[in-house]
Amino acid sequence: MIYKIVRCPHCKKMVMTTSEKIFKCMFCGHIKKMENLNVEYSSMDPTLARNFMKSRKRDIHFEKFDDVWIN
Ligand SMILES: [Zn+2]
Repeated sequence: MIYKIVRCPHCKKMVMTTSEKIFKCMFCGHIKKMENLNVEYSSMDPTLARNFMKSRKRDIHFEKFDDVWIN
């Protein structure tokens, strides 16, 4: 099983998934084909995938911060 990190195109949150074909966001319920998503990270090891999410968390906060000010 491969653990993949993708960014939801709807709510911009990072989601870890093992799905091959259909992505469903656990936060907003957005559904999209995996082939149309940009996989930011993939690994057979879920611990490595989680570590990647942790290391990128700062980016997510920055994006949210920017959205607040632009809108
Ligand atoms: Zn979402």
